[in-house]
Amino acid sequence: MSDCIFCQIGEGQIPSNKVYEDDKILCFHDLDPQAPVHVLIIPKKHITSLDDVTEEDSELLGYIMTKVKEIAATLGLENGYRLVNNCGEDGLQTVKHLHFHLLGKRKMDRSRSRRSGNAPRGSRSRSRHHNARQYD
Ligand code: AMP
Ligand code: ZN
Repeated sequence: MSDCIFCQIGEGQIPSNKVYEDDKILCFHDLDPQAPVHVLIIPKKHITSLDDVTEEDSELLGYIMTKVKEIAATLGLENGYRLVNNCGEDGLQTVKHLHFHLLGKRKMDRSRSRRSGNAPRGSRSRSRHHNARQYD
């Protein structure tokens, strides 16, 4: 898709700080890192979101999952990591090309989702967490 920023990165039209690339996928550093290591793994094929994946994509999705540990090892994440996908409006997906965030080299927090899990839109709790560090 010509107007998709991640397609343009995949095609080399927009530069990125690459970690791994092959004919199917690309991994590059996130511009706004939320952890000491924060990279994005994308399929080169344009898929808008996890919600748009079809059976035809199952091999590609499986391939991405098998590459995660390889990329994590390259980045020295031997102590573990977090893999995140934001999907759609409520998932706060901002770039409409399927991507997985791989974060590591810090201890992740599990408190945010627990505290704000049932908070209605615009509630105090939600706005308080709006400024919280992402992916915690
Ligand atoms: P999401 O909010 O899940 O859609 O994530 C999009 C991510 O893409 C954000 O973490 C952005 O910082 C990152 N991002 C946007 N544009 C670029 C870019 N040109 N190069 C690297 N990362 C980017
Ligand atoms: Zn795209």
